[in-house]
Amino acid sequence: MPPKVFLQKCKLKNSIVFFYSIMDSGENAQAVCLRYVSYMSAAKTDIYKSYAFIGGRWVGGDAGRSFAVSNPADGAVLATLPDLGPAEAEQAIVAADKAFAAWSGMTAAERSDILYVWYQQIVAHKGELAELITAEQGKPLRESRGEVDYGAAYVRWYAEEARRTYGEVIPTDAKDRRLITVRQPVGVVAAITPWNFPLAMVTRKIAPALAAGCTVVLKPAEATPLTALALAALGEASGIPAGVFNVLTAAEGAAVGKALCASPTVRKLSFTGSTAVGKLLFAQCAPTVKRLSLELGGHAPFIVFDDADVDAAVEGAIQAKFRNAGQTCVCANRFYIHESVLPSFAKLLQQRMSALNVGAGRDDNTDIGPLISEAAVAKVESHVSDALERGAEVLLGGGRHEAGGTWFEPTLLAGVSPDSLIMTEETFGPLVALTSFSKEADVIELANATTAGLAAYFYSRDIGRIWRTAEALEYGMVGINTGLLSSEVIPFGGTKESGLGREGARAGIDEYLETKYLCIAGLDNGG
Ligand code: NAP
Repeated sequence: MPPKVFLQKCKLKNSIVFFYSIMDSGENAQAVCLRYVSYMSAAKTDIYKSYAFIGGRWVGGDAGRSFAVSNPADGAVLATLPDLGPAEAEQAIVAADKAFAAWSGMTAAERSDILYVWYQQIVAHKGELAELITAEQGKPLRESRGEVDYGAAYVRWYAEEARRTYGEVIPTDAKDRRLITVRQPVGVVAAITPWNFPLAMVTRKIAPALAAGCTVVLKPAEATPLTALALAALGEASGIPAGVFNVLTAAEGAAVGKALCASPTVRKLSFTGSTAVGKLLFAQCAPTVKRLSLELGGHAPFIVFDDADVDAAVEGAIQAKFRNAGQTCVCANRFYIHESVLPSFAKLLQQRMSALNVGAGRDDNTDIGPLISEAAVAKVESHVSDALERGAEVLLGGGRHEAGGTWFEPTLLAGVSPDSLIMTEETFGPLVALTSFSKEADVIELANATTAGLAAYFYSRDIGRIWRTAEALEYGMVGINTGLLSSEVIPFGGTKESGLGREGARAGIDEYLETKYLCIAGLDNGG
């Protein structure tokens, strides 16, 4: 059957738009219009913003203070942004609160359509967004492009999940009652994000929050706010109404964070960052008993058993360790290699690591970009020197890279003592610490001997051992025979001090919904 062509009319941004479309009979004109406008304007949206975004307006701070965002590769200043404080945080909260009734009152399908347009806008701007991520964060362009795909996938996923927030009808406990649950948005959400994934850490929170019907005030990291502002610009162009998604820029997270935590209007805080700051925010949210999602630090063990495919384990180690120069929360931090395969594993890993190119993220052949700051380099250096003092041996690298700046050599240490700093805390750099074990029970005990519980990895081909180990590891996520485990379809999150709640998957939208129980009584038998 030939497609049907309709003349459509819809109102968008105060103008009436007429257009022809080919659509299914069930499709809503507003949605088709938004998609059309998104498609036509995709190349035109200006994503480079040097203002904060409050209540649908691009604004500077009341106090006129500002801070610079610079490229970690060369120190070049990329932008100067308003340094906002508690007063502007309050303005953003008021804007989000004002927008809440209309946004949460939309049908799920209407919110879904807008999110879907946002997804398309992000994808249409993939190249520019990737360049922006590399410029402000430093990771190789190849990884930045991957981050845009990864981050956009959360928006598409939650555009889909927006329509699946079902309640329940509960079999009644009394003949004259009917028991029902409905699921409603929690209200205004505050989101605070880190610098290591400037795009994906934002969409992983904002997309499910908006899908659920919440409105949001986001405070991105001081080092990487430009990508968050670009996302807000694309959201604005996609038809996200004023006040629904606000972005505060600040040189110092503490004051804005405190205001967001103290506000009784903010009903939920979603935070990704260090465990120390997460604990502080947890305490600051206690007086108003906010809902909390905390995605905190990791300290992942990487175990290679004697029955493992060693080649595959080396490949997995490269993936689990060197993405973003070792600056990911799921990075392998402690390598436990069975004594019988340690020599072959170490030799192969050394070969693979020697071939990694260290350089500027914008160069196509770069594998390892600069670290985010001088403090990050100092931490890796301290982990290396501490391990050496405790008897470790350097197999590769060991210090700052000759390129200078904040580049660090891919470093391989062997014979690392279990009481070394690197075996007890997150490193966040391109450093591999090898140690050996002989018994399965011992390595599981070592792997679990930490307060972190985010990700763990192990390699084995024995099905019994795979089940035993997977169940015994006290972690929210376990990669078995793989060094990569995240995507929008999986529940990302940790146990113990690595956090509360999950992001991604079906579970991710639950974090932004309250379950309300309705008891309808007085229903008699009708005669
Ligand atoms: P961070 O220092 O805790 O900062 C994270 C965010 O919190 C930034 O926006 C920061 O703002 C803000 N912040 C800092 N101090 C604050 C305070 N007192 N009150 C309110 N907000 C405050 O962490 P980071 O160094 O950016 O990120 C690295 C950490 O994040 C690592 O530990 C990593 O494991 C963790 N992480 C976890 C996940 C996960 O899913 N579990 C994912 C990615 C990263 P400023 O930038 O202005 O300081």
